Amino acid sequence: MTVDLVVRNCTVVTPAGRTPDSGVAVEDGQIVAVGRNDRLPDADRVVDCEGAVLVPGIIDCHIHNREPGLEYKEDWESATRAAAAGGVTTVVGMPNTDPVIDRPEHLQLKFDRGEASAHVDFQSYAVITSENLDRIADLDAAGAIGFKIFLGSTVGDVPAPTDGEILEAMERIRETGKRLGFHEENGEIIDYYTAKFQAEGKNRPIDHSHSRPVIAEQEAVERMITFAEETGAAVHMYHVSSGSAAQAVADGKERGVDVTAETTPHYLWFTEEVMHEKGNPARIQPPIRDAEERDLLWQVGIDEGAIDCFATDHAPHTPEEKLVDDPFGNTWESTSGFVGLETEVPVMLTFVNQGRFTLEEWVRRHSTRPAQVWGMYPQKGSLQIGTDADFTIVDPDREWTLEDASTLHSKNCVTPFEGESFVGKSIATVVRGEVVFEDGAVVGESGYGTRVDVDD
Ligand SMILES: [Zn+2]
Repeated sequence: MTVDLVVRNCTVVTPAGRTPDSGVAVEDGQIVAVGRNDRLPDADRVVDCEGAVLVPGIIDCHIHNREPGLEYKEDWESATRAAAAGGVTTVVGMPNTDPVIDRPEHLQLKFDRGEASAHVDFQSYAVITSENLDRIADLDAAGAIGFKIFLGSTVGDVPAPTDGEILEAMERIRETGKRLGFHEENGEIIDYYTAKFQAEGKNRPIDHSHSRPVIAEQEAVERMITFAEETGAAVHMYHVSSGSAAQAVADGKERGVDVTAETTPHYLWFTEEVMHEKGNPARIQPPIRDAEERDLLWQVGIDEGAIDCFATDHAPHTPEEKLVDDPFGNTWESTSGFVGLETEVPVMLTFVNQGRFTLEEWVRRHSTRPAQVWGMYPQKGSLQIGTDADFTIVDPDREWTLEDASTLHSKNCVTPFEGESFVGKSIATVVRGEVVFEDGAVVGESGYGTRVDVDD
């Protein structure tokens, strides 16, 4: 038989292990064979990987694609172009757009825009506020992958519900079978210190970090886990930044609560010293922590397993919004977040090169677990026969430096990873059997990406 596509001469890596001199065969966008080179069928197109590593497509369940409404920062087309270039085959967009994704019509608008312009597959969260508890069932029926609550003030100023409303939201979300994630920072603590520091004239980038102390994150994680234990809801902690918060997640798992968690490249790579070295471009919420908390995040989150997923919190802003021309200027005039879709695979491969974790452990946290946590498995993240032919092909030995962030594919490319050096790079990206990135160029067509259906 002759199939549509064969990718051969790879080391195929899944969480279960690795197989050299192997490849994958694809027909109609689905995997029809995985195995040794000499067992693969003939194909209309053959991609020879020349010994590179092929993994199930990388999934980033935390990006701010900014559309609808904030397209001057980023849109579905530019975000998913960056995803394709970065080796990411599925992205999940955050709901703090304009309008916020708080009702089925807004969710449908977000999906429609994605269907029209995305390069890779996508999904979206719906936001829960004080105003829309009665729409949870409708948002579920409209196809949201899960729900998000912002506990503390952050970009977009989505108001936090009260604790009572959160308990009721959890009861309702439990009925949908979907998961509820949090921007987990205690709003009263961060609002207090933000106002206090501003009144005292503490305006440096590091002051922004210290206005959002670890206890604000740790307490929010503990409180939401306690609520989940009471209600039986499945919960998720986005962007865990500190070892203390990771420990709180570990304690919740130990108690049998259905709690999952993610961390990001920047919390594992940098310490808060980056605020002195790079200033406002590195400003983010929650902030990058000191070495002690960063090391504890590695120990509890990665080595002992409290963290399920890697994601970026890809959050583009314009250079003006990031105060790029005045990196150590008044931090309260800057904003939080930076891009990450094209540096997440290199960061993780660099950690693999350093022996911090194995390729198998990387794939588990960056593809398989995100798919499982958000209901996309095994269609995504598995390499099983009959599932979507999404692959990320990487050169784990490529040494390179991000000399100029403006070479990235987002509309706005400010990132503290500019100037950093890596070992490892994505070299080709395949989404449902279509090559969307190869030879350093995005070759897929805008509008090819489609919404991922999720099971309840
Ligand atoms: Zn975010």
